[in-house]
Amino acid sequence: MYLKTLTLKGFKSFANTVHMSLEPGVTCVVGPNGSGKSNVVDALAWVMGEQGAKNLRGGSMADVIFAGTKTKAPLGRAEVELTIDNTDGALPIEYSEVTISRTMFRSGGSEYAINGTPVRLLDIQELLSDTGMGRQMHVIVGQGQLDAILSASETERRAFIEEAAGVLKHRQRKDRALKK
Ligand code: ATP
Ligand code: MG
Repeated sequence: MYLKTLTLKGFKSFANTVHMSLEPGVTCVVGPNGSGKSNVVDALAWVMGEQGAKNLRGGSMADVIFAGTKTKAPLGRAEVELTIDNTDGALPIEYSEVTISRTMFRSGGSEYAINGTPVRLLDIQELLSDTGMGRQMHVIVGQGQLDAILSASETERRAFIEEAAGVLKHRQRKDRALKK
């Protein structure tokens, strides 16, 4: 199983449709600052079902829709399509190629599809969940995160580990309760 193609339409800085072909193995995206490299990574997280605006580096979910520039009007919808090669059958579906897509409208509302058939978010999550790609399964290390870990103090490093282990939220809850 590997990511085969990624198509962005009106997603963040990609006003015009951009189609990327990927190969098995490691893919590098290079380009000047602000050219949209991180937006490509955001698109991957988004099409796989990411629900947190902050994880997409935005204030609200609608921030993934092309917001316009001096010369180009804003768009009304964002769409991302990811085609996964499934010739090894890693995805539990009878297709050698699986395309998942997500569309979001500025007027509100989202649509998901698997191979062109409308589905629920849950169906996408279930499809990906046993493959190491599902929700919380793939790992996206954001820009600056490695630096932050390497240069963290002991207390900060402990917080990273607690967050990874899932205990941070309980501790924050306990701290809040003790303050009351
Ligand atoms: P760096 O090398 O600095 O990390 P990068 O290639 O990762 O840069 P991105 O962060 O992917 O760059 O892209 C940033 C650009 O995307 C900014 O110019 C920002 O204005 C633009 N952008 C983000 N969201 C939108 C949007 N909804 N509509 C239009 N442009 C957007
Ligand atoms: Mg970046």
